[in-house]
Amino acid sequence: MQKKTLYDVVILGSGPAGLQAAIHASRKKVSVLVLGRQSKSSLFYAHVENFCSLFKVSGEEILRTGRQQAQEFGAKFLEEDVLQITPTSQLFEIKVESGNAVQSKTLILATGTARNKLGVAGEKAFLGKGVSYCVECDANFYKGEDVAIIGGESAAADGALTLTHSAKTVHLISEKLQMVDTLKEELQKSNVTIHEGFKVREIGGDNQVQEIVLDNGTRIPVSGAFIELGAKGVMELAFSLNIALDDEMKFIQTNKKFETNVPGIFAAGDVCGPPWQMAKAVGEGCVAGIGAANYAKKLKLAE
Ligand SMILES: Cc1cc2nc3c(=O)[nH]c(=O)nc-3n(C[C@H](O)[C@H](O)[C@H](O)COP(=O)(O)OP(=O)(O)OC[C@H]3O[C@@H](n4cnc5c(N)ncnc54)[C@H](O)[C@@H]3O)c2cc1C
Repeated sequence: MQKKTLYDVVILGSGPAGLQAAIHASRKKVSVLVLGRQSKSSLFYAHVENFCSLFKVSGEEILRTGRQQAQEFGAKFLEEDVLQITPTSQLFEIKVESGNAVQSKTLILATGTARNKLGVAGEKAFLGKGVSYCVECDANFYKGEDVAIIGGESAAADGALTLTHSAKTVHLISEKLQMVDTLKEELQKSNVTIHEGFKVREIGGDNQVQEIVLDNGTRIPVSGAFIELGAKGVMELAFSLNIALDDEMKFIQTNKKFETNVPGIFAAGDVCGPPWQMAKAVGEGCVAGIGAANYAKKLKLAE
């Protein structure tokens, strides 16, 4: 079996929280890997004029410079989404969308705000009555049933493959499939029915979801509609790791050191709640980065 690379700190997210965490952790001379796409950071299309000492700077430039800075201090970058995290005895195993995996002594979750909404009729009305934003949490409710998953990126593909283990039929609806080739091939070989090039017009039903209506008028009968736009959301990753969320299950709970309830896992930035500001994100990233580096240095691995 091929040995997986072991890092001291793996950071999920290459927005301002993840970058600042990477800068502070790598300056403590530990090995750091940053995962995720800068083009998916909330900051990518922003124009910032309220960050101390930066006046009228594009978010894209801040992200580019932050990455260069972190690389100067030794951090490695991989532009892939994380699909799964599995705790092993003292470490975490992190699977990315190409199917590769690395190991880490610590994790920093800096994945930004959660759940993108689809914004179609029926989405809100059927929330909890067939509409779900979390395959990991709700797949079991649809054993032997027909379901649809809406989205075209890694989270949707991974979710669709997961659902094939329990649902009778899985429809994947996407305007455009955008993921690494290996995941796309896996999807095409599976028994997921792919509807590419379509938008969802409506999620229909009576008291429960009963159908998805596409923009060309096609009606797909389903009892579950999973909305998985973008990368794997914090809710699912947190759920699989038993990380405590706030009462509304929207944000990750941390203490003042930005430690979660799970030893070795830290969180920073928008993922921890408002205000949605870069200044807050980098402050939290700094604390989490230092904390994770110290934790990794102290961790004694059993032989
Ligand atoms: C239009 C707009 C304008 C804004 N203007 C300002 C402003 O002027 N000033 C200001 O202070 N703030 C502004 N903000 C808010 C600011 O952008 C955010 O507060 C900040 O980007 C949060 O940083 P973050 O690192 O927590 O998350 P983000 O910057 O959103 O980064 C999240 C990262 O996580 C990655 N990711 C997500 N899921 C996964 C996964 N499963 N695996 C791996 N990686 C993953 C993404 O690819 C991305 O790299 C603006 C936001 C928007 C949308």
